[in-house]
Amino acid sequence: MSNQEDGRTRRVAVLKKLIIAFLICGILIPIVLCILLFIKVGQLQRQIDALSAKRQMSVASEPVMAQPKPESSVEEPEVLIRKEPYEEISQTETEPDQADAQENLTKVYLTFDDGPSSNTEAILDILALYDVKATFFVTGKEQERYLPLYQRIVEEGHTLGMHSYSHRYGEIYASKEQFVEDLNALQEFLYDTTGVWSRFYRFPGGSSNGVSEVPMAELTEYLTEENIFYLDWNVSCQDATGRNLRPQQIAANVTDHVGKYHTAVVLLHDAADKTSTVEALPLIIEEIQGTENMEFAPVDDEMTMVHHLEQQEK
Ligand SMILES: [Zn+2]
Repeated sequence: MSNQEDGRTRRVAVLKKLIIAFLICGILIPIVLCILLFIKVGQLQRQIDALSAKRQMSVASEPVMAQPKPESSVEEPEVLIRKEPYEEISQTETEPDQADAQENLTKVYLTFDDGPSSNTEAILDILALYDVKATFFVTGKEQERYLPLYQRIVEEGHTLGMHSYSHRYGEIYASKEQFVEDLNALQEFLYDTTGVWSRFYRFPGGSSNGVSEVPMAELTEYLTEENIFYLDWNVSCQDATGRNLRPQQIAANVTDHVGKYHTAVVLLHDAADKTSTVEALPLIIEEIQGTENMEFAPVDDEMTMVHHLEQQEK
């Protein structure tokens, strides 16, 4: 081999080394870098997925307003508009419960006609014992022994209603004038005795009685003009049927029927011969006080007036 050839061979070898070095630097290093970058991108993608999953979960549990902002600004007003309806929906979601409770509620108005009597004290004692307020539709009895009873009715928070002064159907229903005269006599007598100007009336025999010579509409209109509410009943304890009912039966006649109404107006009598009614009273009260969605109330001018000609069940 000549020296010339030796020199060429060395140059070729150097060139080969340079080419290999170039291949390593120009191709392998970028490939390795690419692989490393791919790995890094994969890791970052997993982190993004995990974070966005977390974000969605927290958004779902937050109120509507915490939803991520829509990307387009055009949609933003829509979200603001939605705010109120959403809030309304959440309100109406709670309302049905209250409405249901209201829907099922029965207010029970115990009303005692014809008093005062020798049984009034016993009735008042029982009402006081159970802390129940009731309503007494009384007649005019001016004898000394009755006066404290009118007063006690008022003092103990019961409603004092009118049931005609004389309770004689033949007189009060003979003409409008006689009706008015009887009404005025009772209203003034009660005012003088108790200081209460009664504004509630129960027609003897009810507003649907078939005995009045005067059309009942004329009398009810007159009461309305005088700012007096008249009230019939939708539940009767049947203590005036003439038959001698046992207290348990009288109580059942009430408790079996009050639940049909939102406003249950119960007819009872406060009379000397109605001791079974007095005995039935604790049974009635205990049963109703032990029933959910039922409560006692005295008659007032905000209640739904029960009228025989326009009765409504639940
Ligand atoms: Zn009566």
